[in-house]
This record gives sequence, structure tokens and C-alpha cells, in this order.
Amino acid sequence: MTPPVDHDAIVVGAGPVGQFLAAELQRHGMETLLLEQRDGTAETRSRSGSAPNGRAIGLHPPALAALEACGATERILEEAARIERGAAYDRARRLATLDLSVLGARFPFAASIPQHTTERAISASGPAALRGARVTELAPEPGVVRVSVRTGVRTHERTARAVVIATGAAGRDLALPFTGFSLHEYPDRYLMSDAPAALDPRADDRTAIITLDRRGVLESFPLAGGGRRLVARITAHADGRPDRTAVDALRRAVAERAGSDALAAAIGSVSPFRIRRAIVHRMRLDPAGRLFVIGDAAHEVSPIGGQGMNLGLLDAAGLAPLLAARLRRDDDLDVALRAWEHDRLASARTAARLGSLNTALGRARSRAVHAMLSAGIPAAMRTPLRRTLARAYTMGFDRAAERSRPDQAGP
Ligand SMILES: Cc1cc2nc3c(=O)[nH]c(=O)nc-3n(C[C@H](O)[C@H](O)[C@H](O)COP(=O)(O)OP(=O)(O)OC[C@H]3O[C@@H](n4cnc5c(N)ncnc54)[C@H](O)[C@@H]3O)c2cc1C
Repeated sequence: MTPPVDHDAIVVGAGPVGQFLAAELQRHGMETLLLEQRDGTAETRSRSGSAPNGRAIGLHPPALAALEACGATERILEEAARIERGAAYDRARRLATLDLSVLGARFPFAASIPQHTTERAISASGPAALRGARVTELAPEPGVVRVSVRTGVRTHERTARAVVIATGAAGRDLALPFTGFSLHEYPDRYLMSDAPAALDPRADDRTAIITLDRRGVLESFPLAGGGRRLVARITAHADGRPDRTAVDALRRAVAERAGSDALAAAIGSVSPFRIRRAIVHRMRLDPAGRLFVIGDAAHEVSPIGGQGMNLGLLDAAGLAPLLAARLRRDDDLDVALRAWEHDRLASARTAARLGSLNTALGRARSRAVHAMLSAGIPAAMRTPLRRTLARAYTMGFDRAAERSRPDQAGP
């Protein structure tokens, strides 16, 4: 006999991935509790800081397609900037342009939108999170998962027929009693800032600019509502003298690599980040299929390429209908859930490999290697490789995207 439970499903963590899963479970008729340890929404937190647009800004075509059914895509596209092409530069010299229309996709662009706006667009369709509620322990038992929740000084218990951990990398501990994970720390360091668009003479509001400099990459992406997101890989001065501050270091990188002193001078505040690759061994955490882990808690990939949040949103899009069907029929859907887990781990490994390649391409190199690269890129972009690159940069190799490609559709 099935024991009495408080909820059909509990989702732990109201980042973009947890909010989307909760919205999708609710859309599929599941009564869902969403628990979040922090008090404010992402929007209230974003009002301060050096990157007021949040960390993730890029939403790729497969994620836009996945967010459509709950109405979030329409809300997002009302506010987003559309990145329709990428251009590779060597300082002021344009090496090549990659137009995303070669994809022939329903959304032939990436949407650039602050992470908190994405979260707002998703949460409008889902249950409101119970905030200030930190999950401290999970215990799967036959027919139910017990969830220990700390609110203030009190700890109480909730039960659900299924629980999904979407706690991000910082909350991965919750999954670790049930799975191991692999971890790689990259040596690279990056600085990020948002700056006015008009100051980069090479920029227009539909083009991402990748400046390949032998001292390290400088990326510049259009932001919703104007402005650019600048990201630079940082190396020490040639003479070994350190910059006094992160602001100095980013200003120097922008002046040297983009050749724009005005853009460099406009940089006010900067946030540093380092990168890691982490992938869990399992996303289905118990044999009965009641406990899962998704999003950054399951896989962290290099943000150079901007795929982490998209990867998590696609985890949720695939899991929600299976979990809802499983709970409705109390049918274990073992084969389908195994296939989902297999596809999502394969997609995470692909994104991690692409992230590593992008990271390597952005490193400092000798003059000779840099000259070879600058000569090779325009030649490569005249071959069919351009379509492969467009797919790679827009998550076209994610299993969820491959399934929905017109040339892959079944009869
Ligand atoms: C500099 C940078 C730029 C990036 N740019 C992009 C980009 O352009 N595109 C892209 O796709 N990705 C990007 N990413 C990656 C993206 O930010 C993450 O992949 C994404 O935020 C993961 O979402 P999530 O919901 O899985 O986790 P999170 O966003 O970390 O959310 C997890 C939530 O769970 C809550 N939580 C944690 N533990 C508990 C607990 N025990 N109980 C209750 N709640 C808990 C946390 O408070 C948090 O709100 C970038 C990352 C960085 C660092």
C-alpha cells in the first residue's frame, strides 16, 4: 500500500532549473512544492553587483523551444536581445562571421537576457517558491521520499512521491550520499563586466564578438536593452607586474585586445570567475526512480560558451513529462527514465568537451601559433565546418536538440 504523502513532487532549489521543472510538473498536473534556501528572488539580488544582468545571459535555440509550452519563451523574447551571428576578430581586423541562419532552426539566434528576467519569465507559469527553506537531508523509502527542511531555527519533515535536487553546484552535497562525481579544475581566470555598447566601434546589437588575441580571448555579447557583456581571460603583464585591481586588469585587456581606450575607461566594476567541470555518475539516484538530480548540481561546465543553464533547462524539459506520467500511473517507466538519464549525461559530457575546447581556444599563445590560427579561421569558415560550428555554439549537439531536428524526425 502507498503511504500517505504531503506532495506529488518536491523540487529543491529555485534557480532557473528548479523553477522550470516545478512549472513543467505543475503544467502536467502534479502538485509540486518548490523549496529555496534564500529569501529574495534573483531579481531583488541582481540590483546590486558588478554584473547586474546576472551570470547567465545566453539562451540557445533548444532551450527556447523547451520553454515555449509554459509561455516563458514569448515573455523572454519580448525583452531579449537576439544574437544572430558571431564574428571573430584579431583586434580591429574581422577574420570571419558565422551567421546562425545556417542552422535553419525555428529560433535561428541565441537570446541574450539577464538570468533574473529568465527566472521571472519561468516562475510566472509555476508555483511560488517557499523561501527561507533549506533542505538538509533526503531519505528515499518505499513509495515516498522524506525531506528534512530547516526554516529559521526549526527543522520539520515533508514527504513526496518524488524529489528532484536542483540546488546548483553549491548544493551538490545533497546528492552525494547517492552518487559520486568527477571533477576537473581549470587553471584559467576570467574577468567579467557590463559596459555601454556605443564605445566598441566593431559592435552592433545582433553580433557576438570574439577577439582572438595572443594574450587571451576577449568576448563581447549584446545585452538586452543595450550595452555589452565583456569577458576576458586574464594573464599577467608581459613584465610580470601585477595589476593593482581587477578593474585595471580588465581595462588593460580591453584596451590591448579590442583597441578601444574609451571602452576600457567605461569599465566600472568587475566580477572575477574561475571554471570547473563536474559531472555526477548518476542523475537517477535511487533504484525506485523517486529521487533525481538535475542542473548544475548534476553537471557544471565551463561558462565559456554559455551552456550550463541551457543544459539544466533541457534536463528539466525531458524529466517533467516522464515523472508526471510515472506519478499518475504509479508505473516505474524504468526504460524511459534510464534513456533520459543516459541522454542527459551524454549531453553534459558533450557540453563539457565543447566548453574545454572553447576554453583552450581562448588561452594565451605564441606569436607563431596565433598567426596560424588567424590565417586558418577565415579559410575554415569557407567550408561546411561553418554549419558544424554554428551547431556547436548553439547546443545543436545536445541530445534533446538532435531529437527535434527535422532531418532526425521519425515517420
Ligand atoms: C560567469 C558565468 C556566466 C555564465 N553564463 C551562462 C550563460 O550565458 N548561459 C548558460 O546557459 N549558463 C551560463 N552560466 C551557468 C549558469 O549560471 C548555471 O548553469 C545556472 O545558474 C545553473 O542553474 P541551477 O538552477 O542548476 O543552479 P543555481 O542557479 O545555482 O540555483 C540553485 C538554487 O538552489 C538553492 N539551494 C541550494 N542548496 C539548497 C538547499 N539545500 N535547500 C534549498 N535550496 C537550495 C540556491 O540558493 C539556488 O537558488 C554561467 C555561469 C557563470 C559562472
